[in-house]
Amino acid sequence: MSEMFSIRLPDGSVREVEPGTTPADVAAAIGPGLAKAAMAARVNGEVRDIMRPFEGDSELALITARDEKEALELVRHDYAHVLAEAVQNLFPGTQITFGPATEDGFYYDFAPAPGRGPFTEEDLPAIEEEMRRVIARDAPLVREVWSRDDVRAYFEKQGEAFKAEWVMELPADETITMYRSGDWLDLCRGPHLATTGRLDPQAFKLTRVSGAYWRGDQKNPMLSRIYGTGWLNRKQLEAHLVRLEEAAKRDHRRIGQDMDLFHLQAEAQGSVFWHPKGFVVWRALEAYLRRKLDAAGYQEVKTPQLMDARQWEQSGHWGKYRENMFVVPDEVPNTEEEGPVLSGEGDLMALKPMNCPAHVLIFKQGIKSYRDLPIRLAEMGTCHRNEPHGALHGILRVRQFTQDDAHIFCRADQVIEEVRIFCDLLDEIYRELGFESYAIKLALRPEQRFGTDAEWDHAEQELREAVRAAGRATAEYGWEELPGEGAFYAPKLEFHLTDAIGRTWQVGTIQADTVLPERLDASYVAEDGQRHRPVMLHRAILGTFERFIGILIEHHAGRFPAWLAPVQAVVATIVSEADAYAREVVAALEAAGLRVEADLRNEKINYKVREHSLKKVPNLLVLGRREAEERTVALRPLGTDARQEVLPLDALVERLRLEALPPDLGMLGA
Ligand SMILES: [Zn+2]
Ligand SMILES: [Zn+2]
Repeated sequence: MSEMFSIRLPDGSVREVEPGTTPADVAAAIGPGLAKAAMAARVNGEVRDIMRPFEGDSELALITARDEKEALELVRHDYAHVLAEAVQNLFPGTQITFGPATEDGFYYDFAPAPGRGPFTEEDLPAIEEEMRRVIARDAPLVREVWSRDDVRAYFEKQGEAFKAEWVMELPADETITMYRSGDWLDLCRGPHLATTGRLDPQAFKLTRVSGAYWRGDQKNPMLSRIYGTGWLNRKQLEAHLVRLEEAAKRDHRRIGQDMDLFHLQAEAQGSVFWHPKGFVVWRALEAYLRRKLDAAGYQEVKTPQLMDARQWEQSGHWGKYRENMFVVPDEVPNTEEEGPVLSGEGDLMALKPMNCPAHVLIFKQGIKSYRDLPIRLAEMGTCHRNEPHGALHGILRVRQFTQDDAHIFCRADQVIEEVRIFCDLLDEIYRELGFESYAIKLALRPEQRFGTDAEWDHAEQELREAVRAAGRATAEYGWEELPGEGAFYAPKLEFHLTDAIGRTWQVGTIQADTVLPERLDASYVAEDGQRHRPVMLHRAILGTFERFIGILIEHHAGRFPAWLAPVQAVVATIVSEADAYAREVVAALEAAGLRVEADLRNEKINYKVREHSLKKVPNLLVLGRREAEERTVALRPLGTDARQEVLPLDALVERLRLEALPPDLGMLGA
């Protein structure tokens, strides 16, 4: 008689099973409901196929749709396989490469058959149909362990050069597995669902196609990538499609154009042209932030755009960060017609990719005493980073950006208190800017790092304690620790905003750094009369103005609160007899500090309403003969359709003035 395996379940109970038993067998023994619901198994912490036999005594947890994260990843990976199988059924000669799960679905990269161009969106409906046929066939997805040479031989015979290349590069100690669905095979680590029929044929949709280089390298052949979104059931898919539609309506690029806020053009890849109306938003936000920082004891500075490469070498950026820097020779260009513009012999300078070293250089001017600390240096710091063109996205991902940056130089014993104060300031600012919910996460030590474990224990514990001291290490604040996600020199706190349609955006951050003060030899004189290193806290609240304004646009769908609105009111006449009075109304509003425009065109009022609604002007002030005679104004707030309220001019001016006060200066919505 063979030895039995002990299988321990999450409730602590233990079952003795024969070798060869699978998690599916255990599920069936517990009950038919669980057998049906179980999608995969967590065996000793690893997610595995439900049909894969135990290999010894094991801890077992069955994964069902309730374990949403794992379940979604499983079905998305399965959809990717089904997609690849469907494409090869429909387009013989297509080679398969990689097809992972993504955040909301999956993709698969193909090398189309010779002579056939890349896949297009017109191909997608037929591929979706074939995917449904593959799902309906309900073939078991069987894990098979193969030898490396057999895999290569198999793929070479199939004309699959990419897979044959890839298998030879897998680590020598890796178990090589193939997944079979009927006659179709893919090299894959798994895990997968038991059969293709476990997928809901109505819960996926192919969304788009794009090009992608084999293994992400532009020296390699260009592949054709097909993207899809995949879910556990049709209801989830539909909810996702509604979210996408909502997100498209809020797209900051489109709203930015409708409202005439900014534009981008190829001549300045990744740098924003702010139009007058867009820069009004920027200035209002910047002025607000400046008042908050002034009140919080920050001192604002401005530092050079260009610094010598030797300075970047000393700070460590030249070694670690150079590929993201724009380098400029310190040389007068040759003005002769002949010969190169640059000799190539000038010293190198670089545009700053971050403000930190320059702030250390300011700190180092003059002797600092322990009594001077903390010193909080803030800068609306414009930086450049050399991002590849393909990574750029509207104003959310750019190459030139302005951070709301600051560095707090403090003593080691001040770190917790300074981080706590920062948490409070940031909380106040997010709420005043209209974000009701955000999450705080602590990114812990990564695999590759500087410093000892004891130093990391200490640094992580300080950030944890600071958030606790601020009363925010709670579920309400989405408090969570993220193993492995810290920077190589320090752990960090991340602050993730939730927007009006539930998307999250990491914007704020703070981290304690002892490396840069060391590298750049910053010190203060302590109580003992000796030179000590300060701790440097790198922190941002908005992140960058460009991205944050992009987030504000999408969060508000362009309907900024009045204090941020580029135009706070439009005065629109119904008849030309009201023109003179309209000019008077505009003057009164401007005198009260409001941004106001007049629309005296000879157009129908409904036409004017539509146009200013598209531009998201919060208040439309309609004037006819009667209003002019009675010195009143008919107020139509944005989005309230035909509802309007008639007010005496003075009362209207006072109402709009109060409404347009920034949140730190007034009574928002009074
Ligand atoms: Zn796979
Ligand atoms: Zn910094």
